[in-house]
Amino acid sequence: SRMKQGLAKTRGSFTEGLARLVAGKKQIDDELLEELETLLITADVGVEVTTEIIDAITERVKRRDLDDPEALVRALRGYLVEAVSVPGEIPEWRPGEDNRVVLVVGVNGVGKTTTIGKLAARYQQEGLSVMLAAGDTFRAAAVEQLQQWGQRCDCPVVAQDSGADSASVIHDAVQAAASRGTDVLLADTAGRLHTKTNLMEELTKVRRVVNRLDGDAPHETWLVVDATTGQNAVAQAEKFNESVPLTGLVVTKLDGTAKGGIAVSLVRRLGLPIRYIGVGEGLEDLRPFDPEAYVDALLD
Ligand code: GDP
Repeated sequence: SRMKQGLAKTRGSFTEGLARLVAGKKQIDDELLEELETLLITADVGVEVTTEIIDAITERVKRRDLDDPEALVRALRGYLVEAVSVPGEIPEWRPGEDNRVVLVVGVNGVGKTTTIGKLAARYQQEGLSVMLAAGDTFRAAAVEQLQQWGQRCDCPVVAQDSGADSASVIHDAVQAAASRGTDVLLADTAGRLHTKTNLMEELTKVRRVVNRLDGDAPHETWLVVDATTGQNAVAQAEKFNESVPLTGLVVTKLDGTAKGGIAVSLVRRLGLPIRYIGVGEGLEDLRPFDPEAYVDALLD
């Protein structure tokens, strides 16, 4: 599957490492558990979740509830699925409803604009009407890039000259989408961290402006993070979530790292669902995130 291909680097180190660990072993001993711990940490599952998993397994081994290495792999699968699933309070994302406004935030270079392009194509294929808002007004290339994606999937792009106010562009787009009855508006936002105006303040302003037009909007606010930045992605997500209440994450470039376990760290630390993962640069390289499929891709 594409998920498996996309996670090939992580699979290469994690799956093979795990296979090596359990190969020929009849029992779960301390050495095996220590090596498993290292393997999980190396895959960027995070110290917290790793410790919990190792403690739970150790406890079960002591109670003789778990003894052979095959059962260990099955148990590990269960723990990982649980760790990467968010308890039910956060509603699922269903793009079929009218007039959904999705703000897409994240620092430059993480793959925000590309993700918006891939999403636009996906929703369009599903028969939804899509509009894009070029809210990353600071970076001229971002506006052009978005316009190209818009042409590709034949969806309207609301843009102003570069240097325009991001909130004003997105304001116009929300109005245009409402008057056209567009199903999904995907709004790109600025991502530069070091300039005069504070990024978090600007995003707060965008939210406020959108919310004034439609009291339920933005319906979703997704932070895009780059998996290749490892634990920095977690720190970044925490920082954003403090200022801009997020409803979900998109983890890009999972194809470029052996540390695919970062998805587990992110879900645990943020308590937010991963909506999509990026596993390549192409249009089709965006998958809705499914905990079971993700763990299967890591372990099978
Ligand atoms: P932005 O600054 O956040 O809008 O980032 P861009 O959308 O311009 O993407 C930055 C670079 O990352 C581009 O070269 C994209 O092709 C690349 N990119 C985005 N998503 C993925 C992904 O899932 N996998 C890989 N390998 N590259 C990606």
